[in-house]
Amino acid sequence: MLYSVKELYRPETLEDALRYLAEYPDARPIAGGTDVLVSMRKKKPEDVRLVGLQNLQELRGIRRREDGVVEIGAYNTFTDLANCPIIAESVPMLRTAALAMGGPQIQNAATIGGNVCNGATSADSAPALFARDAVLVLRSAQGERRVPITEFYDGPGRVKRQSGEILVTIELPPCQADSYGDCYIKFSTRKAMDLALIGCAAACGVAKDGTIAQVGIALGVAAPTPIRAAEAEAFLKGKRLTEDMLEQVGELALATAKPRDSWRASKAYREQIIKTLARRAVRAAYEMAGGAL
Ligand SMILES: Cc1cc2nc3c(=O)[nH]c(=O)nc-3n(C[C@H](O)[C@H](O)[C@H](O)COP(=O)(O)OP(=O)(O)OC[C@H]3O[C@@H](n4cnc5c(N)ncnc54)[C@H](O)[C@@H]3O)c2cc1C
Repeated sequence: MLYSVKELYRPETLEDALRYLAEYPDARPIAGGTDVLVSMRKKKPEDVRLVGLQNLQELRGIRRREDGVVEIGAYNTFTDLANCPIIAESVPMLRTAALAMGGPQIQNAATIGGNVCNGATSADSAPALFARDAVLVLRSAQGERRVPITEFYDGPGRVKRQSGEILVTIELPPCQADSYGDCYIKFSTRKAMDLALIGCAAACGVAKDGTIAQVGIALGVAAPTPIRAAEAEAFLKGKRLTEDMLEQVGELALATAKPRDSWRASKAYREQIIKTLARRAVRAAYEMAGGAL
């Protein structure tokens, strides 16, 4: 399908892109286009003004800073994430998420910034970013805004991106514990080209004595937006993990969730999956961090 739009502006610098967005607040950023182009089918193309982000070097690259923060440029494709040694080392569950999303063609085009800004509760990057307390760095002609990802989602398909803003980088603070492990599990009915029925990520920082020093548990498709399972996290903190505790983790994760019936799966089925995935992801993250049950 060919698209004819009012304008496709392709700036070479972030400054120029922000200036254009300030001038045309209705203009829509486009990265890989895997959501934008699908949504445009429902609109009159002549109404659409697009700003292409592909030439903006400020949105590229993945770095680990001296303070241990991992900075992920918004215009990294899922293939970039899957191939990056820094991701494999510091946040391996994001690599798992990258390889579980769409299929190779979609992974080659779709960006992490587009995945976040699209606002879907099924976004495969979201559980890992929520569990790791990611901070979004947004820029507009007015300046910079830093927003914890847990405060960015506003409802199904909605985020709190302000007019004229571009997501530039995503920052992941380092784990402060002696050892670290994480896990993302995407539950879907097909191995590729399928959205998650439920996604669950767990990140675990474990002290030398085996107690859980830091923990993040996050769920996708368990509510209208991705969520943190805060009660399960509070229950785990400061304890050594046991089999009995895992039962409780599943129940507490479910207590935070608000799954719904849809043509993909019933609410009751999703509830079972939430409990099972929360238990499995926490166990896997704890064991990866060197903890023994
Ligand atoms: C066949 C198919 C399969 C898919 N499978 C999956 C899947 O398994 N898992 C999954 O999570 N998603 C899936 N998706 C959805 C989609 O691929 C992802 O959400 C993707 O990450 C979007 O990234 P993009 O770069 O293509 O974004 P775009 O389509 O370019 O943009 C998406 C939204 O984000 C905004 N945006 C993009 N970049 C920025 C930025 N830097 N700053 C501000 N706003 C920005 C755009 O204006 C738009 O609103 C699938 C899509 C298709 C077509």
